[in-house]
Amino acid sequence: MLVVMKQGASHAQVEAVMSKIRSLGYEAVRIPGNRVAIGLLGSDRPPDADPLVGMGGVLRIVRISQPFRLASREWSPENTVVELETGATIGGPDVAVIAGPCAVESEEQIVETARAVRDAGAVLLRAGAFKPRTSPYSFQGLGERGLDLLSLARRETGLPIVTEAPSPETVPLVAEHADVIQVGARNMQNAALLQAVGRAGRPVLLKRGPAATLQELLLAAEYILLEGESRVILCERGLRNFDSHSRNLLDLTAIPSLKELTHLPVIADPSHGTGHRSKVAPMARAAVAAGADGVMLEVHPDPAAAASDGGQAITPSQLAELVPQLRDIAAAIGRGIVREIPVGSEAGHVA
Ligand code: PEP
Ligand code: MN
Repeated sequence: MLVVMKQGASHAQVEAVMSKIRSLGYEAVRIPGNRVAIGLLGSDRPPDADPLVGMGGVLRIVRISQPFRLASREWSPENTVVELETGATIGGPDVAVIAGPCAVESEEQIVETARAVRDAGAVLLRAGAFKPRTSPYSFQGLGERGLDLLSLARRETGLPIVTEAPSPETVPLVAEHADVIQVGARNMQNAALLQAVGRAGRPVLLKRGPAATLQELLLAAEYILLEGESRVILCERGLRNFDSHSRNLLDLTAIPSLKELTHLPVIADPSHGTGHRSKVAPMARAAVAAGADGVMLEVHPDPAAAASDGGQAITPSQLAELVPQLRDIAAAIGRGIVREIPVGSEAGHVA
């Protein structure tokens, strides 16, 4: 529930409403934005609005119809825009391209790929250093060495980094190297991890679990938001499939549905969403048409030699061909592609 105050409500009236909320057993949270509004948190029991209705300065009471609150559109009607250190944004008017290999494999591989995706128009480099794979026999990533190589790629290209933290213990180390911390699909409901990333001081890219409902995804985001991290990017990456034409079933309907339910940015990952190189570009184009705020694409200079997910990696030249198509599709719905970082620019690193 939200209590929306009248324009010009006095400080004393706002304070009185806040202390009444606390006396009812809820936390009272001032919501940033154009209007003065106070949200009630702290219990999943629906609050009783009656004691607040007639109070001085109260304009109206808004009931939040969903079990998630901080993530809901009702809580924050304006879109959350995640701004990276380079000035690139995710969730703003334009569409962001995020690209890179599934995993960091070597210095040469990550730096070469970073340069190529930057030159093709990507504004964020993706690559896993920790790879929690389905099989324990599959490549598990270079770990800490992979994070060092990501920082090197960042210094070389100016591209900010998104990479996965697979467990709460790895979050502080990942946060030293990453501009955005990824929570993988298999970990979407790991509450301890969600809370740890929510405290890390970095934006979070939260992937939808392979069998998660949108409500479960938004409640997972709520764990992060409750820790004080408001910069959460949601990622549709495909659901468990019953057929073999596609590794997962990319749920494009999730994009407009999430945009209705939440103010958080929504991106799509057609690489994991399809699992097949030939289907990545069509589904990336479709995701932009469906209103995605970004696409995350696996790109490898030599997909046949990739240590993981080679079958779904597109090449740098395929990415360079795709980005102008995404630009045309974005233009048809009144959007652009988030500005490319000028080639050769060096963004300062926070670490
Ligand atoms: C990834 O993005 O590299 C990844 C492992 O994805 P997911 O968690 O969606 O399987
Ligand atoms: Mn992958």
